[in-house]
Amino acid sequence: MRDDGTMYDGKRVARDNPIAVKANFNEPPLISRETFFAVQDILARRHKTWIRTKHGSSNALHPYLGHGVLYCGTCGMKLYPKPVKRRHTITHYYLCSSNTNRNKPCGMPMLHQQVVDQEIRTWAALRLTSPLYLKTLTPPQPLINTTAIQNNIDRLNKKVAQQYASIGEVGNEALLLKLIKQNEADIARLEKELQVKPKPMEFEPTKLRKRFLNFGKLSLEEQKDRLHTTFNTIRVDDEGSIIGVELRK
Ligand SMILES: [Zn+2]
Repeated sequence: MRDDGTMYDGKRVARDNPIAVKANFNEPPLISRETFFAVQDILARRHKTWIRTKHGSSNALHPYLGHGVLYCGTCGMKLYPKPVKRRHTITHYYLCSSNTNRNKPCGMPMLHQQVVDQEIRTWAALRLTSPLYLKTLTPPQPLINTTAIQNNIDRLNKKVAQQYASIGEVGNEALLLKLIKQNEADIARLEKELQVKPKPMEFEPTKLRKRFLNFGKLSLEEQKDRLHTTFNTIRVDDEGSIIGVELRK
């Protein structure tokens, strides 16, 4: 269909001259690999899990404290709010995302929202105020994908070896020498990247402790906010007990 809505149903004819699309892989990348993987991390974190919300649903109907940070301890997927209506009462549950359409259920049972949220509150009151426990938490350290870089180096080295071998056998030797030079420059750049050490994350247990000292007295919204700004993931087992956490970067 054309832009103006008319239909076109003709025969496909090949162009006389193919349209050339240039791709120059010898240009240095616009962003470093470190930045690239950092951005992928952020995108993955923002990836929202499907959630059913009714129009006009308020916080009273949406008590889920852990929504957004809770993850399944069995399969690692996000838990999402699952209100179940029976006659006149609604019971709130958390359900693993592996139960949604396209996935294979991991076997994690539905968890009572009240049980899990109470576990979070108790954990916040007892553990997050304990300097000893806080010392066991370490923030996620930035990673450089060294395997990917090394693979690229290996690939380029192979290519350069082949290119050297074909010197004297190709028509355009000047071009071949230029390609070799570019590949060698790429290898040097990648080897430099391998040496870069990522900056370690700073972590201050005392600051974190302060954030959770009065947790029990905060409103639900404030509690949610505090959890979400501190933790990336909180994993729970099939009884709703917290089995692992990851701090937000
Ligand atoms: Zn699961």
